Amino acid sequence: MSLRGKKNPVSDLKPYAFTVEKERTATGKIEDVATLFLTNRECPFRCLMCDLWKNTTDQPVAEGAIPKQIALALEQLPSTKHIKLYNSGSFFDRKAIPPADYTAIADLMNQREFETIIIESHPAFINDEALKFRDMLKGRLEIAIGLETAHPEVLKKLNKKMDLCDFEQAVNLLKINKIAVRAFILLRPPYLSEEEGLTWAKRSLDFAFSVGVECCVVIPTRAGNGAVDYLQHRGDFTPPSVRSLEAVLKYGILEQKGRIFADLWDLEIFSSCEKCFPYRKERLNMMNLHQKYFPPVRCNCTEK
Ligand code: SF4
Ligand SMILES: [Zn+2]
Repeated sequence: MSLRGKKNPVSDLKPYAFTVEKERTATGKIEDVATLFLTNRECPFRCLMCDLWKNTTDQPVAEGAIPKQIALALEQLPSTKHIKLYNSGSFFDRKAIPPADYTAIADLMNQREFETIIIESHPAFINDEALKFRDMLKGRLEIAIGLETAHPEVLKKLNKKMDLCDFEQAVNLLKINKIAVRAFILLRPPYLSEEEGLTWAKRSLDFAFSVGVECCVVIPTRAGNGAVDYLQHRGDFTPPSVRSLEAVLKYGILEQKGRIFADLWDLEIFSSCEKCFPYRKERLNMMNLHQKYFPPVRCNCTEK
C-alpha cells in the first residue's frame, strides 16, 4: 500500500464510468452489453496486481447510492439486453454494496428486462446472498470471479487469499444453483517468464473450464498500481506481449470448452509495433466476437 499513488476523485452519486460494447453472449449471438463501473468502498483484499482501488471511496457509500448510480447510467445509455454491474471488488461485500439495496437493484434490472446480469465477486463473499439475489432477478445471473492464475505458488504470492480449492468450491456452489460463472485470468502475472506466462494462462483456462466455468476473460497483466511497477523495476515482472495474448486466445478458441475473450482495454501498451497493432487488435476483436480462429496478422516486426 505504501507504493500506491493517489486515488482518482470519485463521487458516490455516479458510476466512475459506463459504456456499451458488443460481446458474444452465452446463446451465441453478438449483442450489446452495458458495463457500469460502480463507485463504492475499496475492496478489503489487497491483491498484488490490483489497481481497482484507484476509483473507490475509503468509506462505505450510503444506502440508496448504488441504485441511484445504476439509474443514472441507464438513463444515459442506449437500451441493451445484458448488463455488467462491476464494483471494483465484490458485489456481495456488505461494505461495498449495502444488502438493503439488493431489492432496488433487482427492480431496476427487472423493469429494464435485462436478460443477463453479470456481477463480480471474490469466492469469500459467495454464499446464500448470491442465491437470494438470483431469486430477485427475472434475468439470468452470471458471476465473474478472478481466478487470476492456476499456478499455485504465484496465486499465493498475488495475496488473493484464495486457493484453487476455494475457487472450485465457489464455482460448484454457483453451478448447482444455476448461476453461470465467468473467470478472469491474468496473462503473465509477476514472477513468470513470457513462455511460462503463456503456458500458465493456457493451464488456467483448462482449470477454469474443467471446474465448470462457462466463460473466461484473459487479461494482460499491467503495471500502474505501484506494487507491480516496483516488481518490474526489480526484474520480477515484465508485461506480456500481444503475441502471447493472440496465442492464448487461439488456444482457447480451438479448445472450444466455453467462451473465451481477450481483454482489449489499453492493449496498445503491450505492443511494440505501431504498424501491425491496429490489425492485431481488430483480429482479436473478431475472434472474441465470433469465437472463431482468424488467420494471423503478418508483419516484418518482432511481433511477427
Ligand atoms: S479481490 Fe479483486 S478487487 Fe479485491 S483486491 Fe483482489 S483483484 Fe482487487
Ligand atoms: Zn508489426
